[in-house]
Amino acid sequence: MSNHIPVLQPKMQRRRLLLFLLLVMGVAFVMHAGITAQRSYKTETGNLYRSSKTASELLAHSLSGLIYTFQLDAAKHLLDEAVKRRQFVSGEIVDPDGISLVKSLSGIPAEGELFTIRKIVKTKSGETVGTLTLVVSCATIEAQIRNKFIEETAFGALQMLLILFIVYLGTSKLVTALGQANARMADLATRDSLTGVFNRRGIQDEIVRLASSSKPPKLGLIHLDLDKFKAVNDTLGHAVGDKVLEETARRLKANVRVHDSLARIGGDEFLVVCTIDKSNFDVGRVASRLITALNQPMPEEISRLDVGASAGVIEFELGHPEDFEQALVSADLALYEAKNNGRGCSKTYRDELKSTYLDTENTILAIKKGIANGEFEPWFQPQTNMQTGLLEGVEVLVRWNDPDKGVRSPADFLQIADEAGLLNLIDQQIFDQALPILAKLHENGLHGLTMSFNLTAKRLAEPGLVEQLRRSTLNAGLLSSDIALEIIETVIFDARSSQAIETINALAMAGFRIELDDFGTGRSSIANLIKFPVSKLKIDRQFVAGIDDDADKEKITGAIVRLAEDLGIATLAEGVETEDEFSTVQTMGCGSVQGYFVAKPMREEELESWCMDRASQFADRLVDFSSRLRAAGKSDRRSA
Ligand code: C2E
Ligand code: CA
Ligand code: CA
Repeated sequence: MSNHIPVLQPKMQRRRLLLFLLLVMGVAFVMHAGITAQRSYKTETGNLYRSSKTASELLAHSLSGLIYTFQLDAAKHLLDEAVKRRQFVSGEIVDPDGISLVKSLSGIPAEGELFTIRKIVKTKSGETVGTLTLVVSCATIEAQIRNKFIEETAFGALQMLLILFIVYLGTSKLVTALGQANARMADLATRDSLTGVFNRRGIQDEIVRLASSSKPPKLGLIHLDLDKFKAVNDTLGHAVGDKVLEETARRLKANVRVHDSLARIGGDEFLVVCTIDKSNFDVGRVASRLITALNQPMPEEISRLDVGASAGVIEFELGHPEDFEQALVSADLALYEAKNNGRGCSKTYRDELKSTYLDTENTILAIKKGIANGEFEPWFQPQTNMQTGLLEGVEVLVRWNDPDKGVRSPADFLQIADEAGLLNLIDQQIFDQALPILAKLHENGLHGLTMSFNLTAKRLAEPGLVEQLRRSTLNAGLLSSDIALEIIETVIFDARSSQAIETINALAMAGFRIELDDFGTGRSSIANLIKFPVSKLKIDRQFVAGIDDDADKEKITGAIVRLAEDLGIATLAEGVETEDEFSTVQTMGCGSVQGYFVAKPMREEELESWCMDRASQFADRLVDFSSRLRAAGKSDRRSA
């Protein structure tokens, strides 16, 4: 995976080079100065040597003389030597300091000025034989100065070198620090601080880099999205959410090649970009491997909820960075399909997905318009007592009076509305429309008739739901016990969401009946039921369909009915279509029934006439029954 720390930028390299050149120039300067100083020192000592020689020779023949020399100490020494050689007594120096300036303008010897040493030379008997005068050129001083200069220069050079060395160390440290800061900044800008993988900008930079290579590669793009991350964040908190994301990144890293790129581009969205370098490389297979890794349960210490993931996959030629953006849109569509296909899987992009996507977008727009125009309408399906045949309740099922497409069933729009966050609005509209109808049915003599509504996980999470439902119920002149709320078992058992459970308990406390919908389709154990205030189990149609012909279904449904009965929970068989199914479930002792065999979902007006028919049928049956009873009584009396 190309998750290397970025190298120094070219700008930074140039700065380093400049500093190095400056350093080299500094060293060259110091060396040059040192060499010049040394050369001049050598010249001076050479002169001195020559002048000393001249002085000794001169003094060997003459007592008086002018000698130019350069060094005071050397001059004094020459005088002493000359006196000794000629066996004179060393005379005293005229000038007590031994030095008098011949010519001085400032009092401080300057270059070119001369000063003398004069010595009176005497015989052993004390007779003065002459004066020896040595003229010392200021060159002596000059030489001393130069010597000093050499020393100073050498010292200065050392100092300079030391300073330069320190400066170099400092700058190189600074450059390193700047480099590191720069790398860190680049890191912050291109990496996800939580997981360490690329962020959106990072992956875009990577794509630009790949696109600019001499032979732009063929790439595989996998867009991954965690399935139940929101539930983790909502119920276990963001700290657990973060750990889940870190674990996700770890699993992804472990399942891609080192040169594949990995990025987190949103809350729980990840991207994998693989180079297709072999003809047999299969991006779909990589995606499946990643999904399998992410579908593994989370370790207990990270999260007690599992997340799972879905993925959209596409292969594309990277001619230009924009190809990546286009591929991302396509991978998104494939991901959308994976989500719609039950999640926990990966799908590869096909062109027809684009039209499906456009259809969905149009449906969302139409739903929004439908909500505003009151196009959603409650339909009702009767629920009857299996033993007496009496009407006990109705389930409210939404229908959409689409002006373009006619009456539409929930299968057409429910999921889209839910995903677009529009179902809560629809459900509240349906609730408010249906309650007055129930109140009317009560008024018309169907006292005790209940009305059931479907409640989604999102609706349960809606703040203030209990109060809202209670107010609407009261406003319609009904009791909360007239209302049943159907919740599918996965919402109760899988979410393990404390908030959903709290809301369910609050609804039960408020007097609403809680019914478990689609029972048997989830993975709940019936033993769990005692933990919840459930008053009825709606046994799913998958157990009921063909039950008269399937011994296993019969056994399972029979067991469910008996156990529920023991727990004091009522049962209803859903989707009963045939007389055989009906009589099989009836024999098991199931409490009530809802299905096409009794009645299909219908509009309010149809429901009213259905109830009348049913009532007259029952009246007929009752008449029949009582006449049979009467007839039986007569025959009994006759036989008595
Ligand atoms: P559900 O809650 O399980 O509702 C029963 C579904 O089974 C209804 O489908 C009903 O028409 C259908 N059905 C009833 N008897 C039979 C039968 O004998 N055979 C067959 N094959 N089907 C039968 P519908 O009305 O299409 O609703 C489908 C699902 O949509 C419902 O399943 C429910 O989950 C959801 N739904 C319906 N109305 C609403 C609503 O107003 N709000 C919410 N949130 N969900 C709703
Ligand atoms: Ca239902
Ligand atoms: Ca159901």
